[in-house]
Amino acid sequence: MAIDFRIRNFFYPVGIYRLNRTLEKTQWLPRDELLAYQERRLTAILDQAYNHVPYYRRLFKTLGLTPADIRCVDDLKKLPLLSKDIVCKGGTDFIADNAKRYDPVTYSTSGTSGVPMRIQLDKGARILEFVYYWRHWGWAGYRLGDRFAELRTYFFLGRNSDAVSLWQPHLRGLMLNSNQVSFSRAKKMAEAIRRYRPKFLKGMAATLYFLALSFKQAGITDISFRAVFSTGEVLTPQYRAMMEQVFGCPVMDSYGHMEGAVAISQCMEGGYHINSDYGLLEFENPQPSEDGTAMVGRAVGTSLYNFAMPFIRYDMGDDIEFFPETEICPCGRTLPLVKVIHGRRDDIIITPDGRLVTNMFVLPELVEGIRFAQFIQESSTVLNVNVVPGETWTEGESEKLSCYVKKLTGKEMNVRMHQITQNDIITDASGKTRTVISYVKPRD
Ligand SMILES: [Zn+2]
Repeated sequence: MAIDFRIRNFFYPVGIYRLNRTLEKTQWLPRDELLAYQERRLTAILDQAYNHVPYYRRLFKTLGLTPADIRCVDDLKKLPLLSKDIVCKGGTDFIADNAKRYDPVTYSTSGTSGVPMRIQLDKGARILEFVYYWRHWGWAGYRLGDRFAELRTYFFLGRNSDAVSLWQPHLRGLMLNSNQVSFSRAKKMAEAIRRYRPKFLKGMAATLYFLALSFKQAGITDISFRAVFSTGEVLTPQYRAMMEQVFGCPVMDSYGHMEGAVAISQCMEGGYHINSDYGLLEFENPQPSEDGTAMVGRAVGTSLYNFAMPFIRYDMGDDIEFFPETEICPCGRTLPLVKVIHGRRDDIIITPDGRLVTNMFVLPELVEGIRFAQFIQESSTVLNVNVVPGETWTEGESEKLSCYVKKLTGKEMNVRMHQITQNDIITDASGKTRTVISYVKPRD
């Protein structure tokens, strides 16, 4: 998620303190009390959507419903699923007419899907985001003020795209340039980590893996953390094993989107907990999983906090395996467990100078007018960028995107821009669309 973190958007000490006290308790609540908490929040969101969000006002009227008809989680099924496409087309229809009361900030996000979208997160949603991360990191022993390192792409694109790292004293964070992860730069990265001694490391799964791999190849064995936090894409057993071996600590995975409707995070015991006090997760069209030990369904989320732009029954586009019976985690938290998340898997771009680019998906949101973008590496020096243009797509934006691609992949890469239609988007055998496809495979 390419959110450019600005402290002023999160500077609500009283709100953060209060919500933190609440969420410290809700994670241990008996299940029925947790459900009651969730339903109280849901009722408030539905009332807001019905009274103040044009899209939902119309939807409820068309269906002949009022919020009073939706008293519990099961009743939510009376409302249809919401797709990203509907949100993109609906535009301001999804923004509450009283949004200003809730101090919203607009963010542009493509998540990891290649489809950019503008969303508003109000004060409550931003406080929630902060507290959610604080709590998850706290499971691994993090205390506010502890030093951390974070692998980032967007942060460096807007500043110095060749820098390996940048220390941010006000965050107590060491920003590591995920676009500079390579064998030849491993020693520089390690030097920065030794100098600032971060206790925790955060990043996207593939980038973290390649950082660990580059350290291993460079013979760097003295870098360790208390925990590594992996986000944004599938954390494969291979990725996890490499990180645990090189960084000598547990890897804690998490799943979520900027839309703020669902958050799942792994505890130190390895359990994947649904943060049901953050958002409401349903499983659409559940089927037995391949090995028959679990069920698998499409993840559908509902915001419990964002009054400026609530998402109700939002299709997250990912399948999740869950347990048919209630499982208890050895950590003692009552937040329900899921088994496996089948999230995003993209290919890696390998640059002519040997770097591995894992974060191409941040680019579509940096320019105007893209409906969808797909990056296809044809050979070691040729990269095709296929864009499904929206109404505001121009030659200027095309050049801008091409420049960003070159910033990430280097001057030697031939970047070829193409305009395509929706029908030309390449999908894999299962019908899934990947943002990055490469016919050049990395060496292990
Ligand atoms: Zn647990």
